[in-house]
Amino acid sequence: MTTRSVAQVIPAIHTYEGEGFGVFRPFPQSRLEMLDPFLLLDEMEPKDHAPAQAIGTSDHPHRGFETVTYMIEGEFDHADSQGNHGTIRAGGVQWMTAGAGIVHREQPGASIKRDGGRTHGFQLWVNLPAHDKMIAPAYQGFDPADIPAHNADGVTLRVVAGELSGLRGVAGTHSPIVYAHVTIEPGATFTTELPADSNVGIYVFGGRGTLAGSEQAVDTHDFVIYQREPGAIAITATDRLDALLLAGRPLNEPVARYGPFVMNTRQQLIEAFDDFESGRMGGISAVK
Ligand code: MN
Repeated sequence: MTTRSVAQVIPAIHTYEGEGFGVFRPFPQSRLEMLDPFLLLDEMEPKDHAPAQAIGTSDHPHRGFETVTYMIEGEFDHADSQGNHGTIRAGGVQWMTAGAGIVHREQPGASIKRDGGRTHGFQLWVNLPAHDKMIAPAYQGFDPADIPAHNADGVTLRVVAGELSGLRGVAGTHSPIVYAHVTIEPGATFTTELPADSNVGIYVFGGRGTLAGSEQAVDTHDFVIYQREPGAIAITATDRLDALLLAGRPLNEPVARYGPFVMNTRQQLIEAFDDFESGRMGGISAVK
């Protein structure tokens, strides 16, 4: 069996987002700008909130890409300028296509804000191809039971998008990608093969393991990036290991990004700021 070689193992940085909640961020950071077509991965750090302490993000815009929220523990409420609002439950996913522009807010669930509770989740930013950047905003919401899952030989897969080891995810995407949660029991090995033309990254967010081929050890908060080449990847868990798997065919298009906007040119960024500031991305009306 040919093994896909490891390009880099990068520890996530720790920083703050929104109203000041802590995140572990594999990218972007000084050592990795993006993993085309993925622009950002944030792990909202696992946290037990006291009553009236949980925070999120206030109203802010996006244009030119998609935000994907996956909750591991606790709940997040969202509301947007399209009039959508709802709750992302533990194990559930919200796949939001900002497209031409949307304004939204993301806040811990009402009962967690009032009474306290635990939150832990992820936000992934997926770039849109140039010809899709100005499409109408949309979102896809999935309850925990909607996410296809499979358990065999000490490995549990939950596939949000794309196809992994014969299991097909639920979310529609604008370029070929795979987004999945992999759980490996101690001593078990997860092996899979992904398209040779895809960028592949694995973010470990719990436990420890070793990578096949190099026998390199990986720990919680490590992001493993593979070479773009044919071959299988394999990870053996030392402790019970949880990881997110990202794979995607690179768009290979210019990226002009600033804050909440990701376009192809600087001029398009200026237009995005202008459209937001003059209210053309809308606002959030009274919801809930
Ligand atoms: Mn946002």
